Amino acid sequence: NRKAIIAGNWKMNKTATEAVELIDALIPAVKDANCEVVICTPFTTLVTAVEKTKGTNIHVGAENVHFEKSGAFTGEISADMLVDLGVEYVITGHSERRQYFAETDETVNKRTLAALNAGLKVLVCVGENLTQREQGVTEELVRMQTKIALNGVTAEQMANVVIAYEPVWAIGTGKTATSDQAQEVCAAIRKVLGELYGEAVAKATTIQYGGSMNAGNAEELLGKPDVDGGLIGGASLKADAFATIVAAA
Ligand code: 13P
Repeated sequence: NRKAIIAGNWKMNKTATEAVELIDALIPAVKDANCEVVICTPFTTLVTAVEKTKGTNIHVGAENVHFEKSGAFTGEISADMLVDLGVEYVITGHSERRQYFAETDETVNKRTLAALNAGLKVLVCVGENLTQREQGVTEELVRMQTKIALNGVTAEQMANVVIAYEPVWAIGTGKTATSDQAQEVCAAIRKVLGELYGEAVAKATTIQYGGSMNAGNAEELLGKPDVDGGLIGGASLKADAFATIVAAA
């Protein structure tokens, strides 16, 4: 009964001008989707994305959010600013933020709480790097990342939380996790959610896989019982590829 969600993460791609063309192509391509369709775009494209998708089945998200409400934080964007634009979703904890912008489990937690308290829906990213997978600590690590990210999030707020399992070694590498690997970790995440919030919340929470998901492998990955959707990077920048993934969900 939980919602399948296919979300594009455009990362640092597309000017607002370029976005118009992609969104124009996406609107007809995903209009018959059986799942929720989200596009997470750069901050500079959000106004355009919200305007262009009004009255369509495409939902708009941001790629990051700051945890303070307002103040002297040059260059940052607050959750209230996103809500005011009509933005519905935000990504927290993406591995690129952790890797290049000193994001920690603690700041991911602060951003997640700030976003939820402002009324945003949050795609919380977790996932191991290659060394961690090779050392056999994937499950332990992902459990810990999930627990810390959700610290202080209420069972009620979990209705607005999506967990995205993104193995770092599979992001932008063309190296997808096998569907069994994706299933294994998504199931482990659901188990943690059960421990934290009980079975009902665990069963109702959407868990996505992300990492080189594309038109060719989406159906297999999404066919797994605990893989409820996808967070798509590269393939979300092409309307036909993204629409094929949406159709597979
Ligand atoms: P790719 O689909 O390009 O591997 O990126 C995945 C991702 O990081 C989505 O957030």
